[in-house]
Amino acid sequence: MLALAVSLGCDLFDSASYAIFARNNRYMTTNGTVRLDDLEYLPCSCSICRKSDVRDLKTSPPSEKTRKLSIHNLNVLIEEIRRIKQSTIEGRLWELVMQRVRAHPKLYEAVHVLSRYRALFEKHSPMTKKRGVFFFDRLDLSRPEIVRFRTRVTNEYLPPEGSKTIVLLPTPTTRPYYADNAVKKVLKSADEQALHICFFKIPYGIFPMELGDVFPVAQTEASKQLDSNVLRDTAEAVVQYLGRFRNSQIILHISDEDLSRTILSKVKGLCKKTNQKLRISYGGGDAWRDEAVESLCTALREVEKSRKQTAPRLRK
Ligand SMILES: [Zn+2]
Repeated sequence: MLALAVSLGCDLFDSASYAIFARNNRYMTTNGTVRLDDLEYLPCSCSICRKSDVRDLKTSPPSEKTRKLSIHNLNVLIEEIRRIKQSTIEGRLWELVMQRVRAHPKLYEAVHVLSRYRALFEKHSPMTKKRGVFFFDRLDLSRPEIVRFRTRVTNEYLPPEGSKTIVLLPTPTTRPYYADNAVKKVLKSADEQALHICFFKIPYGIFPMELGDVFPVAQTEASKQLDSNVLRDTAEAVVQYLGRFRNSQIILHISDEDLSRTILSKVKGLCKKTNQKLRISYGGGDAWRDEAVESLCTALREVEKSRKQTAPRLRK
């Protein structure tokens, strides 16, 4: 729980636990304490554990056993503090906390409370980090990098001036996304400046094409095994963003998979409420297959044609 304490702002520890646990024959590990009598091996390579045999340690005289257990316990605490310091420097304290809270159900419960303070965490987190972002599950939705990116995109991003069509796409297979062959083909099919092109992606929800190559979007690795909470939360972020542009029509281009279906359902709900026009350019197996991309290009050409027809003409 030291990592959790540090994440909450504690930077000074005064502990007698290593000695108290030793007196009670308790052997500390990074995941909690265990009774020495329950150990068949010593899962540590500190100076004491390297030189001791578990059977000899169990049968040592009490004072010797307490002394050795105290030193081992202190070594475990020192090692954990060093690991926390290093992970802080690397920008990986969040990952360490998430690993440690899985050591006990009560710690895991406690960390859920942190999501109430996600804005506070975001405020005190550095803007950039040396390492990328790993995303595993719903707990990570409170990560400062994710909260910050979503908030800024939703509240502050300004689309190309005069663009009245939002094109919402799944992320293509190659990076950078704007240089993907299928995306380039899509861009050629219409006037790019008249379109507001966005991608949807876990865990960020939605982001405009030109932000696909910036931190943290381009530096995020997300697990593909995700629960419905994450899908729903991501889809809600999409809808929150789209709701800002009530005068735009939406072209939704999706594959037949869980996130796309969740987004489709939420976007339909939004359009019903706001009267935004929704067109689904593709909803089959893979949104980036040739036939699907062609279907999107056709939709965009039609939008372009209609835009030119309805554009105000200059008087001669
Ligand atoms: Zn040890």
